[in-house]
Amino acid sequence: MSKAGQDNFNGYYKLEMHAHTGGVFRCCEVDADQVPLFFKRNGYGGVVITNHFFKNNLLKWGLNWSRSIDKFYSIFSKAKEAGDECGIKVFFGIELSLDGNVNDILIYGLTKKLLKETRGIFDFDYKQLYEWAEKNELLLYQAHPSRHYCTFLGKDVLHGVEAYNGTKAREEYVSCNERAVDLAKKYGMYQISGSDFHGLNEKPTGGILVPNWVKTGKGLVKFLKMGQPRMIGIE
Ligand SMILES: [Zn+2]
Ligand SMILES: [Zn+2]
Repeated sequence: MSKAGQDNFNGYYKLEMHAHTGGVFRCCEVDADQVPLFFKRNGYGGVVITNHFFKNNLLKWGLNWSRSIDKFYSIFSKAKEAGDECGIKVFFGIELSLDGNVNDILIYGLTKKLLKETRGIFDFDYKQLYEWAEKNELLLYQAHPSRHYCTFLGKDVLHGVEAYNGTKAREEYVSCNERAVDLAKKYGMYQISGSDFHGLNEKPTGGILVPNWVKTGKGLVKFLKMGQPRMIGIE
């Protein structure tokens, strides 16, 4: 698709909000530098890399905190460089699980510096996490809150919910989306949509439309705070 085609939804582009790369956790084996081009070919103008971020996943590298973050971030950097080369925006995010907890939280607006400064993050409770996010202008969206193993965390500690999750990993996961939308509506929460990309054989079906002025993580946060974005995957 041409560049014009990607940027030409009346000043908006498609942004993937939930994508994994290889090099972090065994669930995804796609080289980080292949992911941006894949999304570009599928008509997206941007992708947020949201790799799994949980304690054991970092500990397995046997590095200290600072070096663990360097390594984690270097995988994102590979994707970012590839995105710069092929002309698609690449944003840094994480899919966080607190220690001893299976719920997943997508975080936007993060920087490597802030992660480095937040050594105790895995031991936060959800209230502490939310306060930290507020203080640092980050946004927290609970990923696929209606999956059987997840517990909806509630309006007080989230900025919104992932109402559409495009994974095809399991039939029962696909059917969770309706309940996620219901949750968001019941509690009056902002919704996002993401493909939960894990492999090149999965055609992406999620994402949101963002204005062309969104070029950085902070810009994305600013836009998301302005109101409910238009979502791909659901109306
Ligand atoms: Zn995964
Ligand atoms: Zn995910």
